[in-house]
Amino acid sequence: MLSLFGSGIGRGIAIGQAYVLKNSDIEIPHSSLEQAEVTTEVKRFRSAILTTENTYKALLENLPKDAPKESAAFINAHMLMLRDPMIMDTSIKIIRTEMVNAEYALQTQADTLIKVFEQMQDAYLRAKKADVQHVTNRVLRNLLKIVSHSLDEFNDENLDGKIIVGKDLSPAETIFIKDRKVASFVTDLGSQISHTAIIARSLKMPAVVGLHGSTRYIKDNDVLIVDGMRGIIIINPSDKILREYKARQSKIRARQRELNTLTKKASKTVDGVRIQLLGNIENAKDAKALNKVNAAGVGLYRTEYLFMNREQAPNEAEQFREYKRIAISVAKPVVIRTLDIGGDKQLDFNYPNKQSSESPLGLRAVRMCLNHIEIFKPQLRAILRASAFGKVSIMIPMVSNFDEIDQVLTIIKQTKMELKAEGISFDSRIKVGGMIEVPAAAIMADLFAQKLDFLSIGTNDLIQYTLAIDRVDDAVNHLYDPIHPAVLQLIKQVIRAGKKADIPVSLCGEMAGNISYTRLLLGLGLKNFSMDATYLLDVKDRILKADTSKLRYLVGKIVSSDNPSEARDYLVKLNQL
Ligand code: PEP
Ligand code: MG
Repeated sequence: MLSLFGSGIGRGIAIGQAYVLKNSDIEIPHSSLEQAEVTTEVKRFRSAILTTENTYKALLENLPKDAPKESAAFINAHMLMLRDPMIMDTSIKIIRTEMVNAEYALQTQADTLIKVFEQMQDAYLRAKKADVQHVTNRVLRNLLKIVSHSLDEFNDENLDGKIIVGKDLSPAETIFIKDRKVASFVTDLGSQISHTAIIARSLKMPAVVGLHGSTRYIKDNDVLIVDGMRGIIIINPSDKILREYKARQSKIRARQRELNTLTKKASKTVDGVRIQLLGNIENAKDAKALNKVNAAGVGLYRTEYLFMNREQAPNEAEQFREYKRIAISVAKPVVIRTLDIGGDKQLDFNYPNKQSSESPLGLRAVRMCLNHIEIFKPQLRAILRASAFGKVSIMIPMVSNFDEIDQVLTIIKQTKMELKAEGISFDSRIKVGGMIEVPAAAIMADLFAQKLDFLSIGTNDLIQYTLAIDRVDDAVNHLYDPIHPAVLQLIKQVIRAGKKADIPVSLCGEMAGNISYTRLLLGLGLKNFSMDATYLLDVKDRILKADTSKLRYLVGKIVSSDNPSEARDYLVKLNQL
């Protein structure tokens, strides 16, 4: 039995077997054959093609019912490509004429095809080169008998109940496990505020990140306990420890049942202040979870996840279908945030200046969209079209100056005119809001409030940018301090600016779902909280027990404190009131 400590995510406990990721690169061997070996080599190649084909068939048969329609088309296209003479017959010809091993012959032919696709004018055909490499890689893995434990399209194993162990997970990999019944994940790197962690929370999945050593000490199929609340994992626990944790699991379930009784209760404080509890979602499944906890609507729909794990951006029609589906299923206000790509959220497909977007200070979010109208415009059209089917609003991430707001508002106006001319319905009075997550925007919130219909404070980034701490770098994670007076003063300023301009202000960063900060935020005057559905009832419980008239003194002390440990003491006192 061995325990490792890191940063915990979620309040639950998971128990299961380890699935250790091995993202092996494929090295292509090159050998010459004797004439007598050629027939056997061709047979080996044909057999690898057949195995690959069978894997595709199994993938098709086991496709979840709610998988996007494109998934089946994608697999079928790869299956066709596998049997295409340009891949199969030509590779066999190379084995025979050049008398080389199958792997080398196949990769040689794939390289030739990739070059041809690269030179195509048409972007769609150019993207086909990725399909060639995917199909080739599958066959190569079969030829080389490489077992790939990776979270991508090569993974067709049953991951139900498994605990994924890896060095790090990207948000794209985490969203991949969102569709599987994985029990938990643990990583060597990562921080509690990364997008990966945020997705884990939305999965109701306890996880531990920043473990520094999990991949060294954990082997496939080891039994693991993951304690998200304490940030501990236990490898191959004794029977006694296992029993203790199972008992704790039952207690957590009992507490959840207790919280469920609050679902229908109106959300207001002891002194009668009404608080709106909204949800953060990444896809339609999350929207259903919100309905279960009776959220007042969606305060943040992170649309970028619709763009991940795919080789092309979803077109207007696909986006429209998805946004409309969510607007109808929620049947309450839905705030759709335009694409926030950059920093730790990356796309598979290429677009100009993609490199810059890898920095959190680079061409991220609205900056990227304004630079790539060909991506932005179809999204705006899709959102506007969906607004005819529900109470939809548009939210712009990472605004930092007035020009950006003016440009976005002009593009929205133009898009509305186009739709009108085409006779397509939309909500002509659709609200447009902005996320306040850059200190410049918080400082100028008064003026931003005059141009926008609502503001939403993105504390995850506001803290990152105010304190100059990369939210995914676990080396500086200890400096990530939501109650730093600079952060709290900015939050207070934004809430005040909204009040003055008489527009709603919500807070949709992770702070909104953390019960340690509920009273603090209430004391700062926040009326709209947006969080993952998992936390909503817990936060509601806090709100029902809070009296805002009694919070002011201690909240004032925390905001003006020049001593971090004193501020933490005040926070403890505030939560004990
Ligand atoms: C935030 O920054 O607080 C936020 C909600 O946006 P994201 O976490 O997606 O960057
Ligand atoms: Mg943000």
